[in-house]
Amino acid sequence: MAYLKDLGELYLAQNYRRFPVAFVEGKGARLFDEEGREYLDFCAGIAVCALGHSPPEVVSAIKEQAARLLHVSNLYWTEPQARLAQVLVENSFADRVFFCNSGAEAVEAALKLARRYAWLRHGPGKTKIVALENSFHGRTYGALSATGQPAYWEGFEPLVPDFVHVPPNDLEALREAVDERTCAVILEPILGEGGVIPLEREFLETARRLCDQAGALLILDEIQTGVGRTGQLFAYQHYGVEPEVMCLAKGLAGGLPLGAMLAKAEVMEVLSPGSHASTFGGNPVCCAAALAVLERVRDPDFLAEVRLKGEALRKGLLGLCEKFPEKLKGVRGLGLLLALETRIPAPELMQALFERRILTTAPKPEALRLTPPLTISYREIDALLSALEEILKA
Ligand SMILES: *Cc1c(COP(=O)(O)O)cnc(C)c1O
Repeated sequence: MAYLKDLGELYLAQNYRRFPVAFVEGKGARLFDEEGREYLDFCAGIAVCALGHSPPEVVSAIKEQAARLLHVSNLYWTEPQARLAQVLVENSFADRVFFCNSGAEAVEAALKLARRYAWLRHGPGKTKIVALENSFHGRTYGALSATGQPAYWEGFEPLVPDFVHVPPNDLEALREAVDERTCAVILEPILGEGGVIPLEREFLETARRLCDQAGALLILDEIQTGVGRTGQLFAYQHYGVEPEVMCLAKGLAGGLPLGAMLAKAEVMEVLSPGSHASTFGGNPVCCAAALAVLERVRDPDFLAEVRLKGEALRKGLLGLCEKFPEKLKGVRGLGLLLALETRIPAPELMQALFERRILTTAPKPEALRLTPPLTISYREIDALLSALEEILKA
């Protein structure tokens, strides 16, 4: 570790704060460092490793596809890409899919789609995009401009024009913001990086209605909430509110980089040949991995199990809140996207768990976020809860 840390500090951009550990192997919800020490993973690569580390069926899909064909570009058809698009469409509101390589790129594609749709259907001037304060949509310029956290803008301005931000769950502010000039409203059903803040049903329903009235598109950023994370294949299915456009990435290919922007046919139509593209997007190996992930995750029994495990974890966390009311406040989130709301600094709790070789994240000072693999066991959930209890006792 010391050697890798020295090497990294010498040669890498120093844009990340890293834990002092290097991992060499993973299995299920377990990670192993260079000395063979075992860690329990409630981070899962930031909600990416949906089926745990190196799940056998995903690994063999990758191996088989890698041995056959790595890449041809989007000048040609490939089977994994076409079949993955079919699976996504058959299991969602959408009719068509654009593939890219990351979350930010999926958001970027959605924003460009919205501007172009408005321009072709309504003429120039309908360019305003309404997003939420405290949201996170990625680090490229469009996605960063949608991101409602000024700390991330520092030193990078000017941003892309015509974005406005309203507080989450503020109906009045949303009504005020969405007007005839609005081409899109972009929302995370649960603000993940914002500290796991769920949107209220009424807020999403109002956004849907306002978009319909204004002729604007509703874009859902399900990059963190999608692919089974909340106990439904997509979080919008909890709310019964359908968007025109949805962004996916993170868990989609179980650990390989893959992003997707899904849309209704009438909307996606405006991306004519040459209007948008990605060299690597829909790479056959990543798509083969995603097919293996979705084969498991879209099974209703699997999703029911995610909901049960999410409830077990939530119940355990609520129990801790009752035991330590001076240190803990409550639990937020849905399925296996949960945050323990703390009165003590969440990063300190995260650090104490790390010292016990349990990995978590703290996106906000008062939110300890838990995004374990969807395949986490009840025993592993108990191990986390016991460790938390011991730490909170001390
Ligand atoms: C992680 C995330 C992104 C950005 O994804 P990248 O792959 O890091 O570009 C965008 N939106 C949401 C909701 C995310 O959680």
